[in-house]
Amino acid sequence: MAVAASPRLLLLVLMGSFPAHATLSEEEIRIRSAVDARRDSLLATLDEWVDQNTGTFNIEGLRAFSQRLLKPLEELGFTVRSERGPELDIPGRGRFETGPLITAHRPALEGQGNPAHFLLVGHYDTVFEPDSPFQQFRLSAESPGRATGPGIVDMKGGIVVMLAALRVLEQSGDLGAAEWTVIFNADEEIGSLGSRARIEEAAQRATTGFVFEAAYEGGVMVRSRRGLGQFYLTVEGVAAHSGSAHQKGRSAIREIVEKVRLIEALTDYKRGINLNVGTLRGGTKRNIVPFHAEAWVDLRYDTPELGREVRAEIEEISGRTFVEGTTTELWGTLHRPPKIETEAVRELLEKHAEVAEAMGVRPPEPVHAGGGTDGSLMGAVGLPTLDSMGAEGGDAHTDREFIEIDSLTRRAAIAAILMRRLALERKAPQP
Ligand SMILES: [Zn+2]
Repeated sequence: MAVAASPRLLLLVLMGSFPAHATLSEEEIRIRSAVDARRDSLLATLDEWVDQNTGTFNIEGLRAFSQRLLKPLEELGFTVRSERGPELDIPGRGRFETGPLITAHRPALEGQGNPAHFLLVGHYDTVFEPDSPFQQFRLSAESPGRATGPGIVDMKGGIVVMLAALRVLEQSGDLGAAEWTVIFNADEEIGSLGSRARIEEAAQRATTGFVFEAAYEGGVMVRSRRGLGQFYLTVEGVAAHSGSAHQKGRSAIREIVEKVRLIEALTDYKRGINLNVGTLRGGTKRNIVPFHAEAWVDLRYDTPELGREVRAEIEEISGRTFVEGTTTELWGTLHRPPKIETEAVRELLEKHAEVAEAMGVRPPEPVHAGGGTDGSLMGAVGLPTLDSMGAEGGDAHTDREFIEIDSLTRRAAIAAILMRRLALERKAPQP
């Protein structure tokens, strides 16, 4: 991917000088060194965490792992609460309990005026269940400086980055300059269907949001994201012998095929709508008229209006009948609103880039991403949020998932310095 320098950066280069903010202050240099000194210990923590399976449906694994997240927050002076994850009922999966939802809070010191309130969010579930062959942390043999493992960048690495940033701010005495809320959820990989309400509620009380999902390779930040929807169609028909009683049968496959064809046809790249029928299952045997069929549909959309419009169209298609005698049920949700790049987000991205620049990391242009995160939920309720604050890496959701090891300390220092600047700025507004 070609990455162009921003006009602002270009201007700075032409001027041959950087504004004061594009260098680190003495305290900031100390923060950076303190994080750098912890590189090995951060990597050791990540190694240990990645080896512990936390697939979204592995409730035992999630419960065990969630314990590890409590102590670091308590040591930082947070009041920590771990509660049973909400129960969900998902088509094709049935009822199940999600992993514990952890919330932690730390007030600002007295006498801070009207302090910033930061909401930091991370998920500790991964897409890799215990039956996946991909279970282990490994230093990459082919690419020195990289490590691979399930959830290593999506997002146990991000949680390591977040906690390292908080810890160094505690050591520098800066944590008290702001109010802090931290949420760790365990159902992000299925769309945060259970934790959504809690995240939105916390977002309404905060002034700035940070989600420690991965940055792209090279530290590329996300400026905006598409909205996501998911739909599940089940069709019931009538079974019959395909030879002697074919006309008595009502084919669920014929019915669902008509519907998924129309649903896919709603795709309109120009308007920003993608529809993908990702799975289609039906029937039992060649010589039985199929009495059951089901399909999962994924929707990506660019504006809230488009999401509502397409949902209504899917409902309309699902409500039609093509094969008399079949019935269709539709389950669906627009689980990730689009994350819009507001003026406040643009400002945050600029301040983030300034810190990176001051650390000698030339920040590439932020990108528009196709996937959603909890940052989309926070943005949709009006909280200015940066949601790619985590480690750098890639190939998430595959057995090649990797992290750039150096990014653990680099990203933790950027996060700490940025949050510190925002907290102090708020305390003493610039004239
Ligand atoms: Zn993630």
